[in-house]
Amino acid sequence: MEQLISILMSLLTMFMTLISSFMGGGTTPVNPTPSDPTPEPTPVVSGVLSWPLKKSSYVNAGYPAYPGGGAHNGIDIFVSDGKTDGEPFYSAGEGEVTLAANDGQYNDGFGNYCVVYHEKLNIYTLYAHAKEIDVSVGDKVNTDSKLGLIGQTGNATASHLHFAVIKINSDGSTAYDDPMKYVKNPYDSSSPGGSSTTSGKFIFKVYGWGHGVGMSQQGAIVMAKNGKTYKEILKTYYPGTELSTDNNTPSTVKRNGTSVGLVEYLCKTVKQEIGDDAPMEALKAQAVAAYTYAKRFDNFSSGQAYSSSFSYKGTNVEKAVLAVLNISNESETPKATYVTYNGKCAETYYFDTAAGKTTSSASVWGGEEIAYLKGGVASPEKVSESTREFTSAEMKAFIEAYAKSSGKTINLDSNPANWLKILAHDSSYSADIGYVTKIAVGDVTFSGNSFKSKILDDKLRSHCFTITYVAD
Ligand SMILES: [Zn+2]
Repeated sequence: MEQLISILMSLLTMFMTLISSFMGGGTTPVNPTPSDPTPEPTPVVSGVLSWPLKKSSYVNAGYPAYPGGGAHNGIDIFVSDGKTDGEPFYSAGEGEVTLAANDGQYNDGFGNYCVVYHEKLNIYTLYAHAKEIDVSVGDKVNTDSKLGLIGQTGNATASHLHFAVIKINSDGSTAYDDPMKYVKNPYDSSSPGGSSTTSGKFIFKVYGWGHGVGMSQQGAIVMAKNGKTYKEILKTYYPGTELSTDNNTPSTVKRNGTSVGLVEYLCKTVKQEIGDDAPMEALKAQAVAAYTYAKRFDNFSSGQAYSSSFSYKGTNVEKAVLAVLNISNESETPKATYVTYNGKCAETYYFDTAAGKTTSSASVWGGEEIAYLKGGVASPEKVSESTREFTSAEMKAFIEAYAKSSGKTINLDSNPANWLKILAHDSSYSADIGYVTKIAVGDVTFSGNSFKSKILDDKLRSHCFTITYVAD
């Protein structure tokens, strides 16, 4: 009886630990054991469990943290040929299934998952994000037992097997442990192009913010403080454009299905976007940009930040909005000032900071048809710089995931140093640095913007970047 209670208690502890460590991201300590501050010696037991896949595969993100930060309580396994989805996975050793969730629910991020207790080792193994789980609680399993098929249920952005090891401490408490202490990958990871190495990393130096183009709100504030008018600010950030008057300005717009006065809509947008303490001319520039953006996309309900609780009556924000709507109070019929390019409503993107510089409208936002961005923008723009690093294993996984989702074949050299090559950029930042217009990814070329959005899933601030590969 006592033993049963102890087992039940450890199961309970285990799931509390699982849930708390999953929910708490990088901040929740895994299973603290204040009663025993002496760290246990780390056993080197690699190989006591079997690799849970029977196909060439590799670890994309390891234990105990993702390469980009954030706690990670297991390892993420991908199949080397890119066909991870639907691949069977197997029990890492002899044991008994103690949990099997095949309900398609989120399950604290694990999706469909199962847990196997390995009595001889006194540990659990956990297999998550499955497309399906093929075992039931109480099933006796061994290394030939298929547990299920790999999927991307729960909190997963691509199909992979999340594999975790949970050890049971002498006091019955449980804690995640590094799976690589217990398993060895017999396949040695290999890339789609037959690479046997995923060593090294890619360092991206990125210039600009967001999409790297459009109006910089910080820049607009600086310009206004330096005595520039809202018209000068708008012409600076949307070069080649004109300001026009919209004779079809709506008095009310729909926001989330509810009718809102245009003045109220713009005030709450401007407040959230640039703040109500920005100088008057910057507020006006923001109001024009916000109106133009919404008009261009015929969408006043989303895509712009909104300060629902802002009491705008009598504020500078209201003054600025009324001014660019060419009215003196809310009851008059507005005639909005808006930005046009070649007679068409422009696309007035805006960001807190932006590189604010591009030499060709063809390189961004769909080319000449889309109505803005000619020439370059300099003072007073301050280009923000940032650095992002990706391991070669991560980069390979990104490329494979894209290849799979797009049905393309991308062959990678055995040396990661040759995977990514910037072939052309527009020199908009300096002679050596600009928006990437052409980049080779293995044997396929992309524009910098599609590389950034499709392969890197917008993990870079802009497509104005340099790449340095550093070998281990
Ligand atoms: Zn994982």
